[in-house]
Amino acid sequence: MLTSSELISLVKEYDPNANADLLRRAYVFAMEAHGIQKRASGSPYFYHPAEVARFLAELRLDVQTVVTGLLHDVLEDTKVSFEELEEIFGAEIAFLVDGVTKLSKINYTSSKIHQAENFRKFLLAISQDIRVLIVKLVDRLNNMRTLNYVASIEKRKRVALETLEIYAPLAERIGMNVIKDEMEDLAFYNLHPNEYSAIALRLDQIRNKDNNFVQNTVLELKKVFKDSGISVNISGREKKIYSVWKKMQTRNISLEQINDIVAFRVIVDTVEQCYMSLGVIHTHFQIMPGRFKDYISIPKLNNYRSLHTTVIGPLKQAIEVQIKTEEMHRIADEGVAAHWSYKNDEVMAHKDDTKNYGWIKSLLTILQNSGNPEEVIDHSKLEMFENEVFCFTPNGDLITLPRGATAVDFAYEIHTDIGNTCIGVKINGKMVPLKTTLRNGDQVDIITSPYQHPEAAWERFVITGKAKACIKKFIKAQEKAEFTALGLQLTRYVFSSTDIYFSEDLIDIKKFSCDSIGKFYYNVGKGIIGVNTIRMAIPEAENHMIINENAICLIDFTPGIAVHFAECCHPILGDKIIGVLVPQKGIMVHITSCDCIERGGNVFIKVKWNQDDEMDATFIARLRIVILNETESFAIITNIISSNEASITNLKVEHRSTDFFDLLVDVKVRDVVHLGEVQAALRTCSSVRSVRRL
Ligand code: MN
Repeated sequence: MLTSSELISLVKEYDPNANADLLRRAYVFAMEAHGIQKRASGSPYFYHPAEVARFLAELRLDVQTVVTGLLHDVLEDTKVSFEELEEIFGAEIAFLVDGVTKLSKINYTSSKIHQAENFRKFLLAISQDIRVLIVKLVDRLNNMRTLNYVASIEKRKRVALETLEIYAPLAERIGMNVIKDEMEDLAFYNLHPNEYSAIALRLDQIRNKDNNFVQNTVLELKKVFKDSGISVNISGREKKIYSVWKKMQTRNISLEQINDIVAFRVIVDTVEQCYMSLGVIHTHFQIMPGRFKDYISIPKLNNYRSLHTTVIGPLKQAIEVQIKTEEMHRIADEGVAAHWSYKNDEVMAHKDDTKNYGWIKSLLTILQNSGNPEEVIDHSKLEMFENEVFCFTPNGDLITLPRGATAVDFAYEIHTDIGNTCIGVKINGKMVPLKTTLRNGDQVDIITSPYQHPEAAWERFVITGKAKACIKKFIKAQEKAEFTALGLQLTRYVFSSTDIYFSEDLIDIKKFSCDSIGKFYYNVGKGIIGVNTIRMAIPEAENHMIINENAICLIDFTPGIAVHFAECCHPILGDKIIGVLVPQKGIMVHITSCDCIERGGNVFIKVKWNQDDEMDATFIARLRIVILNETESFAIITNIISSNEASITNLKVEHRSTDFFDLLVDVKVRDVVHLGEVQAALRTCSSVRSVRRL
């Protein structure tokens, strides 16, 4: 057993001025308080708090925390009272011990109402001093190490599950990965002993097969750094059994497919050297695409920082390499504890670091403000807030949204303008689609553009009332503006078929039962007032008919609102086009040769692309392409299309025979000339039998 002198010298190693007397008194006090109590293993109870204190000292935590480790069970398991503790050890230590005790009393498997209340207590305790949580986590880890002595299988499983669902995620959340890793493996062992053994066996096999693989790889890696002038410390670290298990589940791979079980660590002195070392690695070894991650530029939420890359290593096997500084390495293992540890010149100067854990307080506020906690909480896990999801802005502000909310909901939650102009989103540093559903803890960075505006499609995936209302409002306003503009153009168009100069004053809006000219234009655009009716309303129009040389210019309109491009003929810039007035829809633009416009009763409107035929837009044209039924054919045609700066928006195999494929391909192009180039390029290819625009 750890003696009091051993503990004192352990603490003195990093804090020479530590209060040895305080440590000794706490040691004796706890030992006497627990007396003849025994653990499930049969050993004296005091072994347990002594081990917890040892672990805390190994994390180089301040004396108060180490003392709390010694005393953490006296309130719960002995006759010692809070007042007694306060009198002997002072308010701070009494408060910490009390906090840990409260955490221990929380039962996560009780009814829902109690869970909510318990979780509130839990957050309350840890939000006041994060050291309470650190001691609790170390306590739980020690209990997990001796869990195999507990006779009841049921109890073992319950404790293991609670560890996996509550304590391991909390340890991860505050960055204490050493604790998280060990907790997960121990919990997994107790919950799924067979799977645990199978994976352990497989890891053994790989280890034995690759004799000295780790040592040899480390040696080879060191060689490439020799001439670089960077002093590095390289080691190999085997992956944890539980993390292998999780990988098997998320990536759907079997035990046999697991090969890289070691991650190599390159520890350097400075951040610059991290990037230089990455350069050294990438210069000497082939990188595996898509596996590089820069957590230095964009740290994980729990402040984890490192460069990760996977390369074909010196022994021609894929290896994962993590590059970091000594400090990053320590924070990766110990997280918040690294900030709380004793520093020679500035003892405990890092108390402010707890402000990074503002999420605890935010959760607390939400719990306190919700009248009925049962409604908020439906689970006993850390993901307890079944109906809510908690995300963060890049500044670390908490945004609470209903579960299922997307990045667009998030944007609107911050500000209407952010929502109305959002064009992209980075979640945890990665570009993802705007409709991505948010998950707890996501850091969401909304990218805006003044040229962006809400799209009708957004309405289908947003779930918050605010986002829905804003999008609707915008679309309604835009619709009104577009139809009003179309109505004005149509009215001018009618005037231009006469030799009467257009003037708003000539329109007697009362005749059309409109109270404003804007309303009149809108009704014309919508087709509520027909163009022929306007014609009749123009004084003496009959006597002044001339041939209409004017046409409505399409550039003034956003496609899809008051002006639409017909799906039957897919007109593109440069095509000869004609507009058909469709009540309620506006103008449908067809190619003049389109069969669909032959139907009687259509009101035709002359339309044109633009004055100078210069539009900064793209159009979709549909092609029927017949290709040879050969393996490369598809690759060849997609290649030709993209190398001609066009892109495929849709592709359908219409018909297939042993010799040929008939494809329908929608391509996005600038204009007819561009489309002509794409078609010509396709025709030069021997796999292409024919190309025809539909
Ligand atoms: Mn304990």
